Amino acid sequence: MSQPCGHVIDLDALNDDDASDMDVSQHSVMDVDEMDVEEPDIPQHVGPGPDTLPGIMQAFRWPYLAAQALGRHMLPAQLQRSCLTRTWRVSTHFSGLGSAELALQLLEHAAAGLTGGVGPQFNLVSACEKQPSRQRVLRTRLPQDCHIFDDIMERFRDLPELSETVDWRGIWSRMPDAFLGQGIAARCRQHLHSQCRLAAPPDLDISGSPCQVWSSMGSRGGSQDNRIVLFLAWAYLIRTGECKIIIHENVSGFKEGILLELLSDTFEVVTLEVHPWHCGFRIIARPRKYSVLFRRRNIEVVSDVHEVYRQLSQSLADWQKQPDLEEFLLTSEQGLLQEENQARASKKLTDKQRGYLQKYQEQGAVRQTRNVVYDLSQNPEKRPIQTSQQTGSLPCLRSGSLLWMPDRRRWLVDAELAALMGFPSSEPLKNLYGVPDIFCPARSQVGTAMHVGCVGLVALVALACARDRS
Ligand SMILES: [Zn+2]
Repeated sequence: MSQPCGHVIDLDALNDDDASDMDVSQHSVMDVDEMDVEEPDIPQHVGPGPDTLPGIMQAFRWPYLAAQALGRHMLPAQLQRSCLTRTWRVSTHFSGLGSAELALQLLEHAAAGLTGGVGPQFNLVSACEKQPSRQRVLRTRLPQDCHIFDDIMERFRDLPELSETVDWRGIWSRMPDAFLGQGIAARCRQHLHSQCRLAAPPDLDISGSPCQVWSSMGSRGGSQDNRIVLFLAWAYLIRTGECKIIIHENVSGFKEGILLELLSDTFEVVTLEVHPWHCGFRIIARPRKYSVLFRRRNIEVVSDVHEVYRQLSQSLADWQKQPDLEEFLLTSEQGLLQEENQARASKKLTDKQRGYLQKYQEQGAVRQTRNVVYDLSQNPEKRPIQTSQQTGSLPCLRSGSLLWMPDRRRWLVDAELAALMGFPSSEPLKNLYGVPDIFCPARSQVGTAMHVGCVGLVALVALACARDRS
């Protein structure tokens, strides 16, 4: 489901009074009196206490704050028997820029204190990504021994194209014949020129399947978009594989009924509505639907996933000052130099962009104020603008988004957009995360990524709520 993409934002309206759309307070199982709003202890190595921190620093502390909150909402004995104590063999599909892998890396450090250092441990065994530029990013990010498979469809042959006469159920019924097997060798972009196969099956999978499909769902609950074949292939791989917990991400228009129809006999499926403001990034709109699948044979769900997720996001809302755009803007000499270099060629708006800008300003009748942002990659006549008073967020990022700040006469640059999506794109953010290097994906890529904080929060909750049957 497409999100409105021509927002403008008035940051003066952002901070406080529109916090009501986080309605967890109405539903929390905890009394307010009972609610422990004391500031959390933050490990020394991640910096000073929250009361002295600006919003962006608190946003980037989501792994530690979420772990802290979990420690308050669940008993030590629960946590120590949970799936947080395991070592996981992790696969991802439609891996993009490796948001899930980064989130797990962060959780590994942040959640260790909950289990007495027993876990969790995440061994990344395979990613799967077809797009060459993203494959290149993954090669720089993932461990050397992690395979980067090229194409999920290599594991299938002779699947028919979708057509008027073949709907997705027709394709699904052909899967057993088309599937070549879990253990087959496949092209791998990490170990070039070789056909790789997994030494052992993964037991945790995180995948964000192609989202374009779900805006074209027909009334019969079927899609005529051929990209649904990729989703079906992934679902079949999951069904026949050995993953015990699976996290699936898609846009909020995703119809989870299809997951239930295909997999609920094998998996307990829990679906969460997830927003970046749950982990401190109110500034960006990116509503997503995350489904967590627990394999019934192996995993017992011992806590209410919805409830634990709500408690965690409420604790984070209590502790975090949601950062505004100002805090994401680069101000260092180095950052501005980068911006200057990057934007030099495009500082002057093209005629088309100038036309869009004019239309935005005419349509919106928004006063030209500080921190208004327009997406000049989108024709405002096709995507009417919305004001920030309604959304409180920047335009949602898409592949190729060009966010223009008229008052500053510049674009939001790569490092800023990457930071909004939870990537440690500058030195201070890298230090907050405690990761070894800066990661600043290009803005043409970042618009298709999972938000790092969102996928991390969901993974933490999923593992905490489950335990092995064995
Ligand atoms: Zn390989």
